[in-house]
Amino acid sequence: MKIMVLNAGSSSLKFKLFNKQDLSVLASGVIEKIGEPQSHARVEYIDGSGEELSEEVYQSMPDHRSAVRLMEKLFREKEILGHVNELAGIGHRVVHGGESFHEPVLINDEILHAIKELVPLAPLHNPANITGIEAAMERTPDIPQVAVFDTAFHQSIPEHAYLYALPYHLYEEQKVRRYGFHGTSHSYVSKMAAEYLNLPYNELKFISLHLGNGASAAAIDRGRCVDTSMGLTPLEGLVMGTRSGDLDPAILFYLARETGMDIQELDNLLNKESGLKGICGNNDMRSIGRMADTGDSHAQLAIEIFCYRIKKYVGAYLAALSGADCLIFTGGIGENDIRVREKCLAGLDTLGVALDSQKNSNRKDGIMEIQKEGGSCKILVVPTDEEFEIASQTLKLLR
Ligand code: AMP
Repeated sequence: MKIMVLNAGSSSLKFKLFNKQDLSVLASGVIEKIGEPQSHARVEYIDGSGEELSEEVYQSMPDHRSAVRLMEKLFREKEILGHVNELAGIGHRVVHGGESFHEPVLINDEILHAIKELVPLAPLHNPANITGIEAAMERTPDIPQVAVFDTAFHQSIPEHAYLYALPYHLYEEQKVRRYGFHGTSHSYVSKMAAEYLNLPYNELKFISLHLGNGASAAAIDRGRCVDTSMGLTPLEGLVMGTRSGDLDPAILFYLARETGMDIQELDNLLNKESGLKGICGNNDMRSIGRMADTGDSHAQLAIEIFCYRIKKYVGAYLAALSGADCLIFTGGIGENDIRVREKCLAGLDTLGVALDSQKNSNRKDGIMEIQKEGGSCKILVVPTDEEFEIASQTLKLLR
């Protein structure tokens, strides 16, 4: 039997197929530009003889339903999945679970309705996730479908950390509070780190830094997340590819008054035109690194601002946790960018977070340990695998 993981974005569908026995990957792929004249699908898979193969398809796919049909067709043709009945379950990534969902759930009509009710809290993400769920439920009505929420891991955050200092009725009536995102990733890498250190997860204090195009920090205190940098939406906290992260909210009133920008324009400004892109015109850290190396002062500044914000959060979470046993870097930037890791921990030796530059410069697959000899806080680079975590949570629920 097999477990499928689906991650539906507004115009994309990522999928990964796992062997239920050992959660080894049998196939993975992505269908992009759904709804555009020319969609693109790519699947990588292991054939019967163990050889790694891939296939690309360019064709029009008007919606997620046709994307799911194409995925099924590719699976059948390549003999990756003979029949949908070979699926023990499908795990879906759902970005926002509000306060209703603390853990993965089996999806039925009532649950789907509850996820739809959360759309106002995540208007960009939940509708896409729902489209993926509905398309899969339509094609495989007899297969159990599980929703795994990005927000669920953060539901253990205490009231004093999740409430904003706004009139309390806005929490009661509008559910305005910190929810946090990237929960699946923070949960996965912190558990992997405990396993690597061969220490009990429930006895360790972690600071987890997920640094990708979206970026967030989490403070995890002996098995429970106690704070995270993203808020009601994924806009708050660290500087990101195109999102500003923290800023003075009064900037919005000021810009509205002075420039006449409306809500939509301000939303677009903060979510799509700010962050690294806003400072240096590029949101890809690899390119920004190259620009900085050739002397581009805006690229250099973007890296400084990005790292300084991270350093401030590390300091804040060291205080919140009264010291940490382990700091984790993950995400595309966290796993690969030597300079960023060095800069955001520079000068923290006196707080017990001491990076070893030599070890930090090494590159290797899997987990890397990069703290100085004798440093009280372990510093690990842990590759994230959100799909694996969704598959394993799906399997756990089905069992
Ligand atoms: P993610 O959202 O986790 O896929 O991460 C995307 C970000 O990771 C982009 O800013 C990429 O430029 C960055 N990234 C990926 N690989 C590298 C690398 N080898 N060095 C520096 N940044 C990288």
